[in-house]
This record gives sequence, structure tokens and C-alpha cells, in this order.
Amino acid sequence: VIDKGQAERSVTTVCAYCGVGCSFKAEVKGNEVVRMVPNKDGKANHGHSCVKGRFAFGYATHPDRITTPMIRKSIDAPWQKVSWDEAIHYAASEFKRLQEKYGRGAVGGITSSRCTNEETYLVQKLVRTAFGNNNVDTCARVCHSPTGYGLKQTLGESAGTQTFDSVMDADVVMVIGANPTDGHPVFAAQLKRRLRQGARLIVVDPRRIDLISGPHFEASYHLKLRPGTNVAVANALAHVIVTEGLVDEAFVQARCESPAFAQWCDFIALEENSPEAVAELSGVAAEDLRGAARLYAQAGNAAIYYGLGVTEHSQGSTMVMAIANLAMATGNIGRSGVGVNPLRGQNNVQGSCDMGSFPHELPGYRHVSDEATRALFEAAWGVPIDQEPGLRIPNMFEAALDGSFKGLYCEGEDIAQSDPNTQHVESALRAMECVVVQDLFLNETAKFAHVFLPGSSFLEKNGTFTNAERRISRVRKVIPPLAGKEDWEVTVALADALGYPMPYAHPSEIMDEIARLTPTFTGVNYARLDALGSIQWPCNEAHPSGTPFMHEGEFVRGKGRFMLTRYVATDERANKRYPLLLTTGRILTQYNVGAQTRRTENTAWHGEDRLEIHPQDAEDRGIREGDWVGVASRAGETVLRATVTTRVQPGVIYTTFHHPESGANVITTDNSDWATNCPEYKVTAVQVTRVDQP
Ligand code: SF4
Repeated sequence: VIDKGQAERSVTTVCAYCGVGCSFKAEVKGNEVVRMVPNKDGKANHGHSCVKGRFAFGYATHPDRITTPMIRKSIDAPWQKVSWDEAIHYAASEFKRLQEKYGRGAVGGITSSRCTNEETYLVQKLVRTAFGNNNVDTCARVCHSPTGYGLKQTLGESAGTQTFDSVMDADVVMVIGANPTDGHPVFAAQLKRRLRQGARLIVVDPRRIDLISGPHFEASYHLKLRPGTNVAVANALAHVIVTEGLVDEAFVQARCESPAFAQWCDFIALEENSPEAVAELSGVAAEDLRGAARLYAQAGNAAIYYGLGVTEHSQGSTMVMAIANLAMATGNIGRSGVGVNPLRGQNNVQGSCDMGSFPHELPGYRHVSDEATRALFEAAWGVPIDQEPGLRIPNMFEAALDGSFKGLYCEGEDIAQSDPNTQHVESALRAMECVVVQDLFLNETAKFAHVFLPGSSFLEKNGTFTNAERRISRVRKVIPPLAGKEDWEVTVALADALGYPMPYAHPSEIMDEIARLTPTFTGVNYARLDALGSIQWPCNEAHPSGTPFMHEGEFVRGKGRFMLTRYVATDERANKRYPLLLTTGRILTQYNVGAQTRRTENTAWHGEDRLEIHPQDAEDRGIREGDWVGVASRAGETVLRATVTTRVQPGVIYTTFHHPESGANVITTDNSDWATNCPEYKVTAVQVTRVDQP
């Protein structure tokens, strides 16, 4: 089914799945992609790929694709197929009606890390110009928003510091709350190569992930912490570094703010941060905390890689800052082989954040309250820009429920399935008067939509994606858009209909505008991307060829700033009624909510989400391998089949979230990161009971 014969042409483009951003040559026969061949010249993948990028592209032409625009007056009415013109004008007239009736702030937009940079830029521009407010957000809200906040506070830039290749210079690698083997397979393969060469490994994770041991390597430490105790563990590592004289004094003196460092040392030396104190609450032995801290601090080059197990907590931003503190204290910033490296789950998380799709930031992470920044964009866009931040996604839901938020333009994001506490999200969507969904499929959110605008897959459009190492790569149109329009053209048409013309002829012109307005992008354009293959931002006069690793010589903010990271236990506690802690993750063959991979042959490898439970917890409940189990939390309940395994520790259960039937987000709660509202997906107190097959 996958190999469809001899290709007639080949187009170089980028994988649309994870944040590694592998380059591929799409081989095409007529208007059909016959195979995806990993590109040997791809700087993120060097000719490697995983089963998602290589094989799971069939969703793009799956019969479930909706290729005709549709409208309906209410969510109970049947969909009516209409022309593009009618759908766009209906959506525009509804948004105008809602703003006239309920006020300018009654509508907003959500964009996605699946969109290209150009598409995301246009959505936030539409909201800020045609809607005239800052009510724009991105799905990075629910994954890496704490990375943006935490790295900006400490280092001065909301981005990972290194190239993937940099890991080949690392002597010690600490992986925190990430499962690269499944989530970022091509990077994981590179990391394993380095481990086989002798680099040492520390894994911080509540679950035994595959990376812990492999042919010819073994993690030196697995800090198997209780979910929700990340910050305490990071503080304990820092405590050892400070109290045992392992700080890189020369680096800190030259590169970091002295008063903040002194304050941090006083705080981190407190007894509450000692390994002995933290051992009890985290479940990690004090000697392992001490050993891991010494190994990390005494390496020539030590690098930290982290994932959503860091960010998706009530202290997600605090943990990101705690990680940056560790790197600064040990001088592990500003050269190859070191750094703070967020592994971005989706292909364009970095890009969607760079493009100003947050309610408080314009492109390039500049706050809307900054007068000079607003003046720059006002001059370019010809409209005043609100100086007050707009609504974040969870605030949009709250405002919908209190009656002040009535209309939503949602591109490429299935909020009804992806966001926590599904019941709450569905009630909010039901309370809106006009929901416009732009997507490939009639997803869960579309059940609450009034207008459906067909989206285009990565094979059907031009644009750029930015991967986890800040690498901007060209997405090239391989086949014509099935619905007749690329996504960026749909947003342009909607803006036009709203009375704010956006006269772009090609996405390259959108990138030219981004480069004109964003200091870190001034050297980026399609001609250079075509010539160089890809560019890592910042790319400007100071860095004409891009920037493989950041903060060399000086931090982006000048001096690095240590932040105090006091551990605060999450409100989501286990108790008698909900005695187990649920955490979640991904599997190699599937991707996020599965909208794409479930419509490909990859489903043969993983057809359902399973609940991993420790043999002791299973025995206590009379649960055997393969039994159906009910999982109930304070938010809701769902049913899954059980896998009994020692991968999880007693008291902790785990599931993936790729299939809507398993409804993992029916049970996740409204708890969120204190700074960014990133949901606390990684800790949910639950009860598990054996049930009959549903
Ligand atoms: Fe590469 Fe990630 Fe795509 Fe796999 S899913 S091919 S690792 S970009």
C-alpha cells in the first residue's frame, strides 16, 4: 500500500510530525505521493527518519478529508456544503455581528503548532487587525508555554540553546520528563550513538523509559521521582552543587547577575532543599540525588534535554527556571555539547511561539505593552494595537461560559480533544455563537462548529516550519491543495471579508514581512532558505549565517539571572478516594491526538491506548493483563484496557492519549502552571477499578 511505484519527480520538504523537523524528499507520481525518502542533506536528520515521517503520510488523502466548505446555523443542524465565498462571508458577517452586539473583545483566534510560520503569523495578524484585539493563542499554551516564560526570565530568549548535533560533544546528558525514543526518535538515535561512545546518562522520569538501557549503554542514574516533585528534585541537585563547591565560579562571576546568584545560593542551601529532605517527598534516594548532581556538575560538557514532563505541571515554569539555574551554575551554556534543550512535541511549536501567537506578545516575543514595539507594528499594519494582553485559551473558555466571549476562529487545533477537562471545554464551545474550524477533518471541535473551512496538509502548501533547534526549513507544495486553497489563503480571504485586506501573492511575501518586523529574523528569506537548506535563528547582521548555539560569550538578556524556585506541592494530591497518580505520554507510531496517524497504516502497531499499572496495584484491585478498567478522577471517568508492568512504580499509572475513545482528557483536571496556564496533564489523582467490557 505504501510503495506505489516509480516516482516522476521529487520535492524536498519537512516532516509535519515532531519537533526534530526531519527533511524528506517527497517522491510524486502525478498528484500522488508514492514515498517519503529521508533527505541525506537534512541538517536535523542526516538521512534518518522514523515510522511516522517515513510511512504515515496517507492521512493527507484519506477519504475522511473534508474538501468542501460547510456552514450550519446551529450545532444541532446538518452541515450544508457551500462555496468558499459563501462560507468565508458567512463567518466574517457572524464575527462582525458578535463584535457589534457583545463588544470588540467577544471574538478571538486559536492557531496551532501544526501550522506553518506564515499561517500562524497571519492568524495573529488577523486577530490584532481585523478583530482589533489580542485574543489570540496557540496550542503551545498546553505544551511548552512554560519554556517560553522560564527561559526568557533566566537566559533572555524563549528558545532551546543548541543544535541536535551538539549532543555529540556532550559528556553527560540529563533527560528530564522526556521520552525521546518514542517522542523524538531521530534525535534519540543520535543520542544513543553518543551514549554508545561513552557519554553518561541521567534520566529523571517517574516511569522506566526505553532510553534507560540499550545495547552498549546504561543510564548511570534513573531518578524515578513521584509525579509532581520535579522542582524539589532539581533543587536537591542544585543544593549538592552549591554546598559541595561544584559551582563554576568563574562562569557565574563573568556571566550572571551577582545579587540574584547570591540570593539563589542562600535559598538553595536551605535544609528543605537537601537530598535527604527531598528524598522523602520525591521517592528518590538521597545518594542518587547526590551522585547525579556530582556527575552533571563535574562533566566537561553536560547537556539537559527536557520535555512535557517538565512543562505540564502546576510548577512547569518554575521547573524550566530550575533547569536553567543548573546549567548556569555549572557553566554549561554557550558552547557545543551543553545547554538547555526543550524537545518540542510538535513540528512547529517553536515557530508558532516565535510568530506572536500569544495574547501578550507580538512576533519576536515582544510584549504588547511595549510602546516602541506597538508603534513598529502599527506603522506596518496601519491599525492601532491594543496594549492590554488578550485572553489565553483557558480564559476564552471561562469568558464563553460567563457570556462575554462568543466567536472563535480555530485553525489546525482540536481543542475539544487536546485540552484538559473535556466536559469544561465542550460546555464553553457550546456557549459560543460562532465557532469556525479550519482543519483537515471533522474533528471533535468541529462537533461544536458553525462554519467548517477545509484545511490543507503539509503536502499541499508552501511555508516554513521551525524545529526544536530553531531551524527554519521550507515546506514545499508537493501536490495541489485538495480543497483548492492553501491554509494561508483561507486566512487572507477571511481578513479581506472582515474589511482588512491582506494582499499577499505568496507565503514568501509573508516571510519577508516577518523578517522586516522581527530582529531575530532579518536575514531570513525564501531565497536564502533555498540556498542554505535551512537557517537557525537568530539570523541577522550579527549572525548572518544563523546561530547553532546561543548565549556564546553573553546571554541574550546580558547577564544570566538565577531565579528562586521554591517547591510547592500540586493541589492534585492522591487521597483515599483517588489513591493513584496518573501521568501521560506518547508512543512511537502514533502522534498526539492521532488525527493523522490513526488514518494511516501506523495504527496496525498501536490500535488503542492502554493503561499501565504496577503489578502490586493491579493485584490489590484484582486486575489482570488485558482487563478493562475504569479510571475516575475529580474531573471525570473513562475506560481503558490494562497493561500490568513494572515500567511504572507502585502508586503511579500511565497512559497514552492518541485515541479519542480512551478519553484521557476526560479525566485530566483544570490545574495549570502558575505563570502560563499550561495544563497539569502530568499529574491527575485517580482511582482504578476493574470493570466489564464496555
Ligand atoms: Fe523525524 Fe520526528 Fe518526523 Fe520522526 S516524527 S521523521 S523524528 S520529524
